[in-house]
Amino acid sequence: MNDKPLSSFRAAQGPGDWAEVPIHAYKQEAGVPFKDITRRVLFSSPALAAELRYFEMAPGGFSTLERHDHVHAVLILRGHGQCLVGNEVRAVAPNDLVYIPSMTWHQFRATAGEPLGFLCMVNAERDKPQLPTPEELEALKRNSSVARFLEE
Ligand code: MN
Repeated sequence: MNDKPLSSFRAAQGPGDWAEVPIHAYKQEAGVPFKDITRRVLFSSPALAAELRYFEMAPGGFSTLERHDHVHAVLILRGHGQCLVGNEVRAVAPNDLVYIPSMTWHQFRATAGEPLGFLCMVNAERDKPQLPTPEELEALKRNSSVARFLEE
């Protein structure tokens, strides 16, 4: 959590770019699979129980396939792509809302040849993501649309 006081106004400098908002590496841990994705923390404060982040993946990029106790509330801001939630794969476009329930496998992919950017609200206090075991991955791939999505 960031304890620097937030500025009341931080102007947009372009799509997915804001004043005083640094770009972070997406994941800190080694060996966690992801591709061409950046993370910006837009709102993080001891006065807030939530954090609002902005993630952007380059064309062909994807987030980690993971699950965890905490939930995600997502608003697609920019571009097009696909999102896996549980056993469902859906195309996503600007202004679409995606809710990822607790302990539900999820992944975002920029599959439309353009960057995919989205806002993601999470609890400030949250558990560490789990990665699928080989057996869990096989179980996910028994659904043919999920298998196609994961093999792209
Ligand atoms: Mn997640």
